Amino acid sequence: MLLARQGCDVTLLEARATVGGRTGYIEEQGFRFDIGPTFFLYPQVLQEIFAEVGRDLMTEVPMTKIDPLYRVVFEGNGHLDARDGVEAMAAEIARLSPEDARNLPRYMSDNRRKIDQFRPILSNPFDSLLDFLRPNVLASLKTLRPQRSLDGDLQNFFSDERVRRAFSFQSKYLGMSPFNCPSLFTILAFLEHEYGVWHPTGGCNMLMRKMADLATEFGADIRLSEPVTGLEFEGKRASAVVTDQARYDGDAIILNADFAESAQKLIPQHMRRRWTDKKIQSQKFSCSTYMMYLGIRGDLPDIQHHTICLADDLVTNVDEIQTRLTLPANPSFYVQNASITDPTLAPEGHSALYVLVPVPNCHAGIDWPNVSAGYRELVLDRLSLIGIGDLRDRIVYEKVLTPHGWIDEHRIYKGATFNMSHDLSQMLYFRPHNRFEDVPGVYLVGGGTHPGSGLPVIFESARISSRLIARDLKL
Ligand SMILES: Cc1cc2nc3c(=O)[nH]c(=O)nc-3n(C[C@H](O)[C@H](O)[C@H](O)COP(=O)(O)OP(=O)(O)OC[C@H]3O[C@@H](n4cnc5c(N)ncnc54)[C@H](O)[C@@H]3O)c2cc1C
Repeated sequence: MLLARQGCDVTLLEARATVGGRTGYIEEQGFRFDIGPTFFLYPQVLQEIFAEVGRDLMTEVPMTKIDPLYRVVFEGNGHLDARDGVEAMAAEIARLSPEDARNLPRYMSDNRRKIDQFRPILSNPFDSLLDFLRPNVLASLKTLRPQRSLDGDLQNFFSDERVRRAFSFQSKYLGMSPFNCPSLFTILAFLEHEYGVWHPTGGCNMLMRKMADLATEFGADIRLSEPVTGLEFEGKRASAVVTDQARYDGDAIILNADFAESAQKLIPQHMRRRWTDKKIQSQKFSCSTYMMYLGIRGDLPDIQHHTICLADDLVTNVDEIQTRLTLPANPSFYVQNASITDPTLAPEGHSALYVLVPVPNCHAGIDWPNVSAGYRELVLDRLSLIGIGDLRDRIVYEKVLTPHGWIDEHRIYKGATFNMSHDLSQMLYFRPHNRFEDVPGVYLVGGGTHPGSGLPVIFESARISSRLIARDLKL
């Protein structure tokens, strides 16, 4: 969209039959489900991008700010409704811990400082070790507290474990555990409280569909169901993209496909000096997710738009996913019941229910074809923890996606849905660079490059890379 608007001759080659990738959609029997993202946070980045092409995001993609933002259910130990606005949120926290409620403003101002310092770092390329010496980076280190984990940092503000959990489950957006996720990521919950949790009407996939429409309007050629099978090179420089149907020359080639999967498949090993197969395979990858998309007869009026249920033994649950690499026995899960806010998602008198269970990625070797049916039963039973009775007789549409499905249907390496993890050793300079360092002419966007995974962040990567291209091609 950005490049087409600047007059570039853009061809987009997409393997699937629809646009959006992880932010695509499933449309069946009158139900529509987002495949992946359901929380749209920090719309600022996309608003700025839309403004750059002369459009207004909120007009192009109507959306609602959700309040309560979400309900967090602590298995066997009550719940907390995250509320829009510091006062309402503090009142809700006070139900669990009056002392923690008093600390909320301090948490907010600490994170406001963090984001102010870190945003310039996240919105610029980080392609040299010298970038660590930029004054804004050095200044940020004190606020960043790199030696602390997310949960450790929250202990400065919140003593009640449930409150800390309500401010740290967001590390799952990165596929990481709050106990080893860098403390920088307290900003995730902060962004929700500061800027809201948004629901685009029709789902997050509408963002992608609108961007595809606008790109087409600006002259881009979007070719669906046309997977790229390889790149061609002139010397060391990538010069063309090849599919089964054609060969496309390009002055710049942008790789948005999952980095670990596509770099290994599309760029010959001898062309990659830094990101060899061995190096890619030795990276830490995020967890995966077991998904259920359920079309339900009737509505579920008491179930919030977003509900997160945290297992009572969260430490074991995290350990199963991250260290033991076994199927979580009593998993945490997330449920979206978006039809209570957005009637466009299900036929009248029906609900579109989305269930996400964090599980180990395929490195674990779990035999999904054999365990999936049993896991479905376990997950359906656990829905009672958030007040959903037995749904089995009411299911009129069902699709299950296991970590194998993320590989087969979405070409995601190891089914690691949130990409390479976001340890500090795999961020900034240490993540594959936006101007891909191994192959001149190739630029990366998406969760596998700087700044990382998650919607506002991948949009930032697209903005960084298109600026680099504009500079390199002297547009
Ligand atoms: C279950 C789930 C829930 C999530 N929830 C949230 C959330 O609530 N909020 C949030 O901000 N983020 C969320 N995320 C993260 C967010 O979805 C990702 O960070 C983001 O969508 C990744 O975008 P991407 O462009 O890197 O990859 P993708 O969306 O995977 O895009 C890559 C595209 O490349 C295509 N492709 C791959 N190989 C080829 C090839 N050889 N030729 C042509 N095309 C190819 C793919 O089909 C795909 O369309 C969630 C992710 C998942 C999986």
